[in-house]
Amino acid sequence: MIIAVDGYSSCGKSTLSKRLASELDFIYIDTGAMYRAVTLYFLDHEIDIANDQAVLSGLEKINITFENIAGANTCFLNDNNVEQEIRGMRVSSFVSEVAAVAAVREASVKMQRSMSVGKSVVMDGRDIGTVVFPQAEVKLFVTADTEVRAQRRYKEMLAKGKQVTIEDVKQNLNHRDSIDTTRAHSPLRQSADAYVIDNTLLTKEEQLKVALAYIHKVKAQL
Ligand code: C5P
Repeated sequence: MIIAVDGYSSCGKSTLSKRLASELDFIYIDTGAMYRAVTLYFLDHEIDIANDQAVLSGLEKINITFENIAGANTCFLNDNNVEQEIRGMRVSSFVSEVAAVAAVREASVKMQRSMSVGKSVVMDGRDIGTVVFPQAEVKLFVTADTEVRAQRRYKEMLAKGKQVTIEDVKQNLNHRDSIDTTRAHSPLRQSADAYVIDNTLLTKEEQLKVALAYIHKVKAQL
């Protein structure tokens, strides 16, 4: 069974997805982390995203894996733990540009599908219900008020010791949403058959309850 969770930046998709995966005993796959890891590699190796050849040869050298370390889903790029680095502003400021490159999306979608073969998966991202798994049994589309999203992300970054201002965070969210919704290749769209969860006024527990109730309803009809 596939549970696809899509939505705008910082709307709580990953928190909800992790909780769902743990409640249902599914595997959680964070596709945003994959685009972030590719971005880190491109930045570190000064790969020009306008240069098709450089992009393709860079992609061939990238291996992304996930491990559970002390209960936390942790991203590895070529065997190096990059979990901290991919969450910082250096990567966040450039990830949507990298994720808009067709070759990057094609390679990532291939990896995402192969990671899911034969497994029950909760996968979160921007194009999971529309492109990666249009046949997913459950599609959730998560939204929240922009101001609330920015405040949540800001607090999260401060708690992790990152040096940012609320303005930086707001700008970054707007920038990413704008590129993600307008890019030519698999833009962020709400799938017509997605169940929408607006969590502006919901606690994490409440969201989880709403999502689980919907999932159980779908499962009963399968
Ligand atoms: O989910 P997260 O905010 O970590 O994703 C980082 C960026 O990766 C997004 O802003 C978007 O540009 C890109 N992304 C994407 N498609 C996905 C997941 C993430 O384009 N399935």
